[in-house]
Amino acid sequence: MTEIDLSKYKADSKSAELILACGGSSSRMGRNKLLVKIGGKPCILRSCEAFEKVGFIKRIIIAAPPELHTVYSEAVSGIKTPITLVCGGETRRQSVMNAVREAREDIIVIHDGARPLVTPDIIERSIEDAFLFGSSVVCTSAKDTIRYDDGESSYSPDRSRLYYVQTPQSFSRKLYLAAAEMAQGDYTDDAQLLDAVGVRPHITVGSYSNIKLTTLEDIAMAEALSGSFPRVGHGYDVHRLVEGRPLVLGGVKIPYEKGLLGHSDADVLTHALMDALLGAAAFGDIGKLFPDTDSSYEGADSVELLKKVVFVLRENGFRIINADVTVVAQSPKLSPYISQMRAVLALAMAVPEDRVSIKATTEERLGFTGSGEGIAAHAVAMIYS
Ligand code: MG
Repeated sequence: MTEIDLSKYKADSKSAELILACGGSSSRMGRNKLLVKIGGKPCILRSCEAFEKVGFIKRIIIAAPPELHTVYSEAVSGIKTPITLVCGGETRRQSVMNAVREAREDIIVIHDGARPLVTPDIIERSIEDAFLFGSSVVCTSAKDTIRYDDGESSYSPDRSRLYYVQTPQSFSRKLYLAAAEMAQGDYTDDAQLLDAVGVRPHITVGSYSNIKLTTLEDIAMAEALSGSFPRVGHGYDVHRLVEGRPLVLGGVKIPYEKGLLGHSDADVLTHALMDALLGAAAFGDIGKLFPDTDSSYEGADSVELLKKVVFVLRENGFRIINADVTVVAQSPKLSPYISQMRAVLALAMAVPEDRVSIKATTEERLGFTGSGEGIAAHAVAMIYS
């Protein structure tokens, strides 16, 4: 093994490019993990956002299979740092190399696209260390005792010298190219390229939160660590019962001698639900979103309005967890229609039916619902930010 003279390969500046390795097949996840949303944002976008906050990063080079270039470009379209897409290769090493050939800055920062929780301070420290030492491999100390067993020898190495290897891994571009020229074979990370040429990579302390999405449980973990949190909202609505109008509740037409009076179809249940969803996001109420001074909402199908509310929440990175609605009506009897209402509303909210609860009650002939003058609905909804 030839040891190379590091002083010849020193980076001249901290000016850097990110190489985002997005070539994986997500075989252990069963779906494209780079498009999985963490806290309402695609994983690949979160991965890029942290780098955008680091001034040294001049460009992002994404190495990905060509058939995914369009979908990845769309997912990161909000990123202002220039982005170049290059084709992934057969192996991780080839994919990264395709991107390294494209790079021009003094330092290359290689990061797994599936590590969405990397922070700007880790990236900055990694670049500083690559500038000082030629390389930086972000690692954390092993927390678990690790056993080696190859079928013959079996032992536990000294834990104090063991590290979990993460990304980013940053290198002087000159050093990386020299090592790549000398090293043979494929590697699971880029630090191993330096091992192959007798250069000890510099370890930069990372964070246990900088997890890689590999299996399904990693998504729940990343969601919990991403700072997204549940929010609850409440909605309440009342409409007057009159003759000559159809009765629509939860998107279902219910045979009855009267119907609810209102500008739209007066679906009081769906209105309370929309207000609960909007309330959870602190987006005001449906009156603000669909003013009754706007004639386009006259006779509107409230389930269509609900779909718009759901769209607005999604666009703002919110996800619906569940909703619970109570309708207060003396009559008619609503139990025969409840399962159909749940199906209609779950479809409109794009959630499974078991996330939508609808209950009906009377007020024992008391008040305006008890006298049959009107129907009221209360709703609570929970969303994830
Ligand atoms: Mg209403």
